[in-house]
Amino acid sequence: MKDIAEGFRRFTTEVFPAQAALFERLATTHQPSTLFIGCSDSRVVPELVTQSDPGELFVIRTAGNLVPPCAPGAGADGVAASIEYAVTVLGVTSVIVCGHSGCGAMTALSSDGDLAALPAVAAWLRHGAAARARSDAGDFPAAEDEVAALVRDNVLCQLANLRTHPAVVRALARNEVTLHGWVYDIASGSVEEFETGGGRLLTPAG
Ligand SMILES: [Zn+2]
Repeated sequence: MKDIAEGFRRFTTEVFPAQAALFERLATTHQPSTLFIGCSDSRVVPELVTQSDPGELFVIRTAGNLVPPCAPGAGADGVAASIEYAVTVLGVTSVIVCGHSGCGAMTALSSDGDLAALPAVAAWLRHGAAARARSDAGDFPAAEDEVAALVRDNVLCQLANLRTHPAVVRALARNEVTLHGWVYDIASGSVEEFETGGGRLLTPAG
């Protein structure tokens, strides 16, 4: 915690003054162009990997970058509320769902481990069941390959869940927003972008 407090002190005394004009503008303006939905994993930092400034990304981070499908009447849902606000009020023009290599949530989902002591995790991972079903259809020589495939399938499944949210449905119908699926590789720093049914590399690996 001491390091965190020291970091905040350095931000206030060194970083903030150096970008005073940016923060002065941001004090009264909030117009992010992109909703970035990523994993809570500490190694996946949206602003770092996209080289974005404060004010450019509206971010939702959940374990496994899972996006529960729209469930009217299910009660308060922070993910649904954030999606609705970003798309309808802030008017973001792109939404990125970003998975990543070595994802703990996807590893747990893939391994059928005992989650009896983690009931909240077990309940949350049910939102990855469709991705698990897709990956189960594959044939993988190693457990790491299975997790990597699940990470990719999960991004596509969460994009499908995203399309169940009315705000997204409306924005797509008006061509006001585009959806993107990414997988970030921690070891190489590369990002792979997926279209439904296929994929292509945004940046070369290595
Ligand atoms: Zn993760």
